[in-house]
Parts: sequence; C-alpha cells; structure tokens
Amino acid sequence: VEFAGSHILSIQQFERADVERIFSVADQMEPYAQRQRVTKVLDGAILGNMFFEPSAFNLLGGEVRETTGFESTAIAKGESLYDTARVLSGYSDVIVMRHPAEGSVAEFAAASRVPVLNGGDGSNEHPSQALLDLYTIKKELSEQRRSIDKLRIAMVGDLRYGRTVHSLCKLLCLYDDVQVRLVSPGELRMPGEIVEQMRSAGMQVEESDALEESIAHVDIVYSTRIQEERFNSQEEADLYRGRFRLNQSVYTANCEPNTVIMHPLPRDSRDNARELDDDLNDNPNLAIFRQTDNGVLVRMALFALTLDVVGQVAEYSREVNWYTAGRF
Ligand code: ASP
Repeated sequence: VEFAGSHILSIQQFERADVERIFSVADQMEPYAQRQRVTKVLDGAILGNMFFEPSAFNLLGGEVRETTGFESTAIAKGESLYDTARVLSGYSDVIVMRHPAEGSVAEFAAASRVPVLNGGDGSNEHPSQALLDLYTIKKELSEQRRSIDKLRIAMVGDLRYGRTVHSLCKLLCLYDDVQVRLVSPGELRMPGEIVEQMRSAGMQVEESDALEESIAHVDIVYSTRIQEERFNSQEEADLYRGRFRLNQSVYTANCEPNTVIMHPLPRDSRDNARELDDDLNDNPNLAIFRQTDNGVLVRMALFALTLDVVGQVAEYSREVNWYTAGRF
C-alpha cells in the first residue's frame, strides 16, 4: 500500500508488510501519546470528523471540525453522500467517517478529494479497531515471547453484526497457523463468507455455542457486545443479551493462567448483559484499557501515514515538563 493520500476503508487492502509498517509507526508515537513530548506536525491540518473521538488527531497538533450526528448535517435534508463528500473534503485535509449503512464510507470516499478513514460502516468493517486489536495481541504475546503466528483466539458474542470481529478475522488471514474458535448463538454466527475466507487462508476455524469449553486452551478471549442497534427490535436483541458472561470464576475455572481478555468496548455492564464482568477489573490479563491506549497510537500512525508526515513528527516536537508527563 502507498499510504500517502490513501483511503483506509477495509482490512482487505493490506498485506502483512503494511500492517508491520503501521505497527512500527505506532511504536514511534508512544512519547506523544504518553504526553512526554508534544508534536505540532499537523499544526494547521483539519480533520473533518463525522463521528470519531478526536484525540489521536489532536495529539499530532491538528484541528478537528465536528460534524456529529446526521440530524445536524445536510444528509438529513436529503443530501447524497457524494455531495457531502465534495463539500466536506473542500475544507478538510482528512476525514474520518462512521455510518450505519454497509459500504457507505467507501461510497463517500469515492467522491472525496482527501483521504477518508472508515470508522465503522454498519456491521461491515472497522479497520482501525482491528489494527489496534492486533497491535494489542502482538504486544501482549510478546510479553510471553510469542508472535502472532500460531495464535489461538476465541471470539465470543454477536459475531453476525459485530464489525470489529469481521475486520479482525480478515486481518488474521495474513498470519500463519492461526486457530479461531467462534462462539455465538446459532442466529448470530460469523457470516459464512468470512469463515470461508479464513479457511481458504489456511486458518483453523471452529464454531460453537458453548462458552466454557471454547475458552480453554486459547491465548486470547475476545468478547463482544450484542449489537442491539442492528436488530429489528429490542425484544429480539434481548433474547441474546447476557448469553455469554465471562467473569472471574468462569475465567479461573476454564482459562489458562495467561489468557488475555479483550473487548472492543463499550462493554455492556447492565445487569442483564455483563459479557465481561466488573469483577475482572483487577485481573492483570484484562487488556481492554491497554487496547484503548494502543488505539490512540495506531490511529496516530494512520493519520501520520496517510498525510505523509511520519518523518517529520520528531522534528516538530518538544519535550514537556508538566507534572502529569511523568505518569506512565
Ligand atoms: N465500538 C465498537 C464498534 O463501533 C464495538 C461496539 O460498538 O460494540 O463497532
């Protein structure tokens, strides 16, 4: 991939070397994300934001212009994605977009004059989340002197509508000897074409609707929320909420001692859901907030790469000496 000026729309566009490149730029972002240094490399650059949490762009010195909620945009007045893309890309340097319809971000990107990053299009894909998830997996495994090849992972929950697991499965196809256990209610199984894609890539895929036996002998348990906003009715979503609950006692009884627990967040902490119980908060293998920290690094890397400033980040930086700079 030539990153400069490119859209980031789907995991499908990457090869393994591209992913390594993103991860190595993410590593370089650490002092800026941890607030030991600040950089102004994107001073004056404008992010046209159609949803996204702006921190990663701000940390590179850039400015975010918000267009949140479709009620407040011309789309609510019947404007097409084409027109909105032409207008917004006229005064932005890069755009991040999240949209409820599958394929909409790619349609928008086709009309945009600046790079568009897909922040989630319906239940289709969420490439930046998958990249930060894999970056987290890589870091967690390297603590155990392991690499992503030979990974054993269980993905649990709403695998039908969860876009983060769709993108993560596609990303894992780039690695060798990966074993995936897909744990969901029968109605919420991973789409068949993604399962096929994984099998053709040489991955070992098993499907199950039983949590406890599926989380034994894996390196990672990746839990997900029931995507209730994608169901036809609340009643239908309620049928599945709370079906798979991982808590400390289930973990202790079934998992290997080093099994890492992940979730794309938000976890549903209401009583009738609790796919990841709060009693795991003190479990050192709960990696969910390491994921969010890593998300800032990976998104900074994607901005620096698409705007082609990786080589200048340090040049436009300085050390800081305020009290909280020492917190990491
Ligand atoms: N935040 C993730 C997403 O946007 C996961 C979720 O909403 O459950 O897809």
